Amino acid sequence: MERLEKRKVDTVSLVKSYVENDYYSNLLIIQSSILQSMREFMISEGFLEILPVIISPITDPLNHDIFDASIDYYGYSYSITKSMILQKQVSTLVTDRIFSMSPNLRLELENRYEDKRHLIEFVQMDMEVANAKREEVMDIMERLLIRIISEITVKHTKIIEKYNSGLVIPKKNFKRIRVQDAIEKYGDSYEKILSANAKEPFWLIDIPIMDREFYDKQNPNDPDFLLDFDLIYPFGYGEAISGGEREHEYDQIIKRMDLKGNSKNIFKDYLDLSKEGLLKPTAGCGIGIERLTRYILGLEHIEKARLFAKSPGKISI
Ligand code: ASP
Ligand code: MG
Repeated sequence: MERLEKRKVDTVSLVKSYVENDYYSNLLIIQSSILQSMREFMISEGFLEILPVIISPITDPLNHDIFDASIDYYGYSYSITKSMILQKQVSTLVTDRIFSMSPNLRLELENRYEDKRHLIEFVQMDMEVANAKREEVMDIMERLLIRIISEITVKHTKIIEKYNSGLVIPKKNFKRIRVQDAIEKYGDSYEKILSANAKEPFWLIDIPIMDREFYDKQNPNDPDFLLDFDLIYPFGYGEAISGGEREHEYDQIIKRMDLKGNSKNIFKDYLDLSKEGLLKPTAGCGIGIERLTRYILGLEHIEKARLFAKSPGKISI
C-alpha cells in the first residue's frame, strides 16, 4: 500500500494532548465506568464472560470493503478477528449466555474517517444467547443501555455536565423502524437522516437480505428480509449495535453463502460444524465501546473516545 508521510500521527503531540488538560483522565473515568456497569449488568443477567479471540482461520466476512488482515503461520492463514461470530455461536453450546470484550480489527478505507464513527481497531461487547429470538436480545440491550447511562449520570454528574449536559436516559421500549419503510421514506441515506433527526436511540429491523452477512437469519415468512437489527443513536451519532437471530442449519448456510458469494473454502470450519449439527439456534449482537463512549460524552469524532485510537487512513501508536 502507498506510504504517505501525512498519514503518520505525531506521537509527541499526541501524548502531549493526553497530558495537557484533564479531558483524557475524565474520558478514562467515564469509559471505566461504562465497562464496569456493562460487566455487572451482563453477569447479573446470567451471562458468563469468555476471553476474546484475536486470531482464527475464520472470522466475520463483513458486508463492506475493507483491507484484509491475516498472518501466515506454518503455511496456514490466521485472520485477525473482525468479529467473533463463529466463536460466539460455539460458546453458547458450553453455556447458554456468553459475552466477550472483543477487540476487532477492520482496516477501513480512509474515506471512512469523515463518518466520525469508525476506528480500524475497536472493542465491542459481543454477546450471544442460546435458543433466543431477537426480541429477547433487544430487550437485554435496551435495559443495558438504560442501566449504563443511569449509573453514569448519577456517579459522574460533573463530568457529564461538562461534556454532554443534554444526555438523557432513554426510555423503554425503543422505537422500531422497518428498514424497507425507512428506505421508501428517506431513500438510501435513511440511517443518516433518521439518526440526525432522532432524540432517543431507535431500532432498525428487518434488514434486506443482501445488506448483511450470511450468518444473520433469513425470515422464513418474509424471505427477502432478515431477523436482525441495528440500534441507532440519536443526534447523528449513527450505528451503535448490530445483531440478530442466526442461521445454524447447513443447507441454509450454504444457500446464504452462495447468495453472498462467500468462499466455502475459507469457511470450511463453519460448514463442518453446521454439517455435524453442532450449531444451534442463537441470537446475539455487539455494541461498540468507543461508539458508546462517544455518544455518552457527546464527542465530535470517535478518535477522542479512547487512548491510542486508530483512525481510518492514519498511522498512530
Ligand atoms: N457482533 C455483531 C453481531 O453479533 C456483528 C458485528 O460485529 O458487526 O451480529
Ligand atoms: Mg453493523
